[in-house]
Amino acid sequence: MKLYLDFEPCDECITMMNELSSPQMLIVDDKTRADESAKFLRHLTYNHSEVVQAVMKDLPKQKRNQEYDFFK
Ligand SMILES: [Zn+2]
Repeated sequence: MKLYLDFEPCDECITMMNELSSPQMLIVDDKTRADESAKFLRHLTYNHSEVVQAVMKDLPKQKRNQEYDFFK
C-alpha cells in the first residue's frame, strides 16, 4: 500500500515509515507486514487524524472497501 501524504511526520512516523520501506519488509510474512502497517495506521489515527481523513477521502471507493480493515 502506497501512501503519498502531505503532512509533517513526527519521529515515530519516520521510524515506522523507514521500517515499512526497508528491504527486510519484503521477506517477512504477510502477517508481520500487515501488523506493521496496522501499527503505523493506528499511530496516524491517534496522532494525525487529519491525514487519515485525507486518505479516506482520496482513496477510490473500491480500494477503500478493500483496505477498510486497516482503518478500524
Ligand atoms: Zn506521527
